[in-house]
This record gives sequence, structure tokens and C-alpha cells, in this order.
Amino acid sequence: MRHTIVAGNWKMHKTYQETHKLLDELIEKLPTGKEVEVIVAPAFTNLGSAVAHLDGTNIQVAAQNMHQAEGGAFTGEVSAQMLKSVNVETVIIGHSERRHYFHETDAILADKVNTALRHDMRVIFCIGEELKDRENKQFLNVIFNQLTDGLFHLTKEQWANIVIAYEPVWAIGTGMTATPEQVQEMHAFIRREIERKYDLNVANSTSILYGGSVKPSNAQELFANPDVDGGLIGGAALIADDFAAIVNAA
Ligand code: PGA
Repeated sequence: MRHTIVAGNWKMHKTYQETHKLLDELIEKLPTGKEVEVIVAPAFTNLGSAVAHLDGTNIQVAAQNMHQAEGGAFTGEVSAQMLKSVNVETVIIGHSERRHYFHETDAILADKVNTALRHDMRVIFCIGEELKDRENKQFLNVIFNQLTDGLFHLTKEQWANIVIAYEPVWAIGTGMTATPEQVQEMHAFIRREIERKYDLNVANSTSILYGGSVKPSNAQELFANPDVDGGLIGGAALIADDFAAIVNAA
């Protein structure tokens, strides 16, 4: 069901020791009793130990990526089965850095989604336009195509395990946040397109997160929008006080 989620994407930050230090700080500082699902996504090397460390807390662990194949000769890659074997149930797929630096196409991402769902994992699927798309007024088309190519082959039932993160590429790590109006416009568009493709129930049951330079000072006004169900946080997720403040704002 649609609910509020705040997820921290730690990217390629934090060693094993630093990961556990930050987890301890989060355990201490995160608010309790709020109706927010909190997720952290450390690096692959620290996923298993993070799950064990967070046992008994309300903090979930996600992977930042996975390979679409079940297994085999793919040097350097990590499979869904491997993630599940260390009790990681959620995976971020399609982050713009994966699309850009690692050339993950819409077709590859659709495969990854299928594999994750086959393993009963939940997917946080990232979509977002580049600055040129916004300037050319193509941003709605770009998002529509990413939704269509990445997710619209799924059945209604499969959407129970899909969370969307709208992350305009020009706002990621740049300090340039989309305005609350721009965010609400896009989130409402995404929800409307899900309704057109499926139905109102699927649209209203899907959590749509915003990501891109979310920080304590802007989280509240972003999260206050009716179609924003929380956030995917990069830089500010690495600072326990900031992440706790963002969770508090949700
Ligand atoms: P940022 O990153 O919060 O540092 O902009 C967001 C993301 O990449 O998910």
C-alpha cells in the first residue's frame, strides 16, 4: 500500500567501519513511532552486516543495484539470489548514475525489475529527466518513456512491489532542488499515467518518492505535496542528524 518512505542511498561511500558507525548514530537519532518506513542502502560489501546490525530496529536495508541474470559468468556482479541470501528484500534499480556511468538502458532495467520481482524483492525504480529535457519542455515525455519501457510491461499485481523515485538528474548532488511545484506536477503526472495504464487503485497504492538535493531545510515543503510519499536521499543520508531531520519532516 502507498505509504511514506525515506530511503538513504549511500552510493560509493562508507567503509565497513564507517557504515557501522553511521548505523549506530541512526539507531540513536532516528525518531521512533513515526509512520515512516526508513531504508538505508549501503555498499554491497556491507549489506549483510548492516542487516544483522539493524536486527530488531525499524530500519530496512536495500541494495543500490543488482544484476539481471540469475547467476553465472558475470565477473564483478551481484545477483538477486545473493541479496536475498543476506536478507536484503529491496533493491534500487535505474538510478541515473547507473543509467549514465554504467550504460544501463531501459531494456536492461526492465530485465532487472523482472528478476527482482521473480525473487519477491521490492524495487525502488528511479526515473528522471536531464536539464536539457526540462529546458526543451520534453520532461514529461522523457518520464513517460522511462515508465513505459521500465515498468509498464508489469501486471497490476506486480505493482504491489514497485516504489517509484522521481529524481531529476539536474537536481542530484548539485544542490539544485526542484521546486515543490515542479515536484508535485511530475508526481501527479506519474500517478495519472499509472492510472491510465492500470487503474486508480494501482495509482493510489504506489509510493512515489522525490530525490535530488533533499536536505533538512527543504524536506518539509517537498514532502507536503499531496503526491509526494517521501524521499530518496543521497548526500544528506550520510549525516545522521540530517537524515534524522529529513525523516522527521516526512
Ligand atoms: P542527492 O542524491 O540527495 O545527493 O542529490 C539523491 C540520489 O542520487 O538518490
